[in-house]
Amino acid sequence: MPISKNKVVAFQYVLTDEEGKKVEDSGDEPMVYLHGGYRNLLPALETALEGRDKGDLVSVTLPPEQAYGLRVEDSVQRVPIKHLLTREKRLRPGMAVRVNTKDGPRDVVITKVGKFNVDVDTNHPLAGKTVTFNIEVKDIRDAVQEELRHGHSHGWDADPHHHH
Ligand code: ZN
Repeated sequence: MPISKNKVVAFQYVLTDEEGKKVEDSGDEPMVYLHGGYRNLLPALETALEGRDKGDLVSVTLPPEQAYGLRVEDSVQRVPIKHLLTREKRLRPGMAVRVNTKDGPRDVVITKVGKFNVDVDTNHPLAGKTVTFNIEVKDIRDAVQEELRHGHSHGWDADPHHHH
């Protein structure tokens, strides 16, 4: 059953940067998403996965414009430390943290640490970078009605008691 519109796909991935250094991976549990332009995944990744089948290995290299965007200069903002979504006590410049904004949580990079505030660069930590996803397709199934109504998957088992 190849990947096509309205299939739920489980996959493992390793994300590397231009130097081939691992940035993140899917960990123990595969990523599960609803395929077909529901914006659950980077569009360029969906395109690369279209038509692939269980067990396929897919390597996709994406320029910044298709991944985490180009860097925007002069995007440093001062943020109260209490607005950071991190339990890390020892904040340092260069650290990637998540911050609560009026548009929801966002990944940013600390540029300067003060007593009550930090300066953060609001560019995504991977902005401006070419990245490579090495993907292994683990499984594919049909979406259930409720997933199609919601426009996202409810996990591999499509838990009927799923709330969000
Ligand atoms: Zn839902």
